[in-house]
Amino acid sequence: MTKLAIDGGIPIRRTLLPYGRHHIDETDINAVVATLRSDWLTTGPRVQELEKNVAEYLGVPETVAVSSGTAALHTMMAAINLGPGDEVIVPTMTFAATANAIVYQGAIPVFADINADTLLIDESNIEKLITKRTKAIVAVDYAGQPCNYKRLNEIAQAYGLTLLDDACHALGATYNGIKVGAIASLTAFSFHPVKHITSGEGGLIATLDSELADKMRRFRNHGISTDFRQREQRNTWYYEMTDLGYNYRITDIQCALGISQLKKADQWLKRRSDIAAQYNESFSGLQGINLLETNQGCLHAYHLYVIKIDDQVLRVDRSKVYSALRAEGIGVNVHYLPVHLHPFYRHKYSAQKGLCPEAERAYQSIISLPIFPSMTDEDMQNVIDATYKVVEAYRI
Ligand SMILES: *Cc1c(COP(=O)(O)O)cnc(C)c1O
Repeated sequence: MTKLAIDGGIPIRRTLLPYGRHHIDETDINAVVATLRSDWLTTGPRVQELEKNVAEYLGVPETVAVSSGTAALHTMMAAINLGPGDEVIVPTMTFAATANAIVYQGAIPVFADINADTLLIDESNIEKLITKRTKAIVAVDYAGQPCNYKRLNEIAQAYGLTLLDDACHALGATYNGIKVGAIASLTAFSFHPVKHITSGEGGLIATLDSELADKMRRFRNHGISTDFRQREQRNTWYYEMTDLGYNYRITDIQCALGISQLKKADQWLKRRSDIAAQYNESFSGLQGINLLETNQGCLHAYHLYVIKIDDQVLRVDRSKVYSALRAEGIGVNVHYLPVHLHPFYRHKYSAQKGLCPEAERAYQSIISLPIFPSMTDEDMQNVIDATYKVVEAYRI
């Protein structure tokens, strides 16, 4: 058997292949430079153009662009008037920002467990978490796979709750032919460099409700009813602050990049699907790891490609497999430590181990393998070879 790099053997690759990475071409650069030479660096025409183009891409009437995915989540929580004492059900297997956005509004995140096969929120677990104070459920399309929206909508309707979506992993994903973004009443996206398209930092809320869109545009601009460009056009200095808001504006420079990147979204989504299909095929016969399940009728956006270590078959734990793959030059990662186990949530909300047993168990076994559109076929083969090398070396 070939000696593992972690034990002094020759690594599969010399440079570390990251788990995700942006891709910038000359058109992107030219778009940003043109905006730098223009009159508007912020609150200008590129912001509306990005909002309009993403709305068309998703098939929704309106979108509101903001400074990050986290700002998008916070803006969405404020749009539904979430306040102190309100509760929001959120899956624990997500990035901390999903729950933090609830806390920003003084509300309480109520952590829901996940389905062990998909790592998506387990719908059968939701109803027992609903109380008189529950206001909303956040669906998180973990790894890029749409949640079971049929069931989530039924629950939300039956209890009079708002269904929100953290789709930061799922730009371009579809559920029964409908794009994620056009399903929940409010959906948040991120344009961070590891996500499907980037604007450096940036985010956006898609909504089916134009009144909410106006409210969110005020929220991102200090709660002021007009922005600088609108006042210039109307030849007035006068403005009023109607609600408490934030400065969550995104710049025209960022939007110029986002507009240019969006043109490549479908082509990149296809590349992500092809890489995932190749991984699925290569790993289907590999004893020692388990693959996640994908639901019927969905187009998975594959922000992440996650495998689970089978501890019945391997003689080492996830940390060892993680370190061995890193030593081989494969920049694997772990998404995520369940949010309720972060010290902040343990202390502030007395969240305890055992609250979400499936998520806690899954966390012990998950590893995210590299997947991003500009990966070459050779990079992909390196990931497959390294995974085989490590798993076979550690198999009982
Ligand atoms: C990336 C991400 C966010 C936050 O987005 P930022 O743009 O980094 O603020 C929120 N939720 C999930 C699930 C994410 O993956």
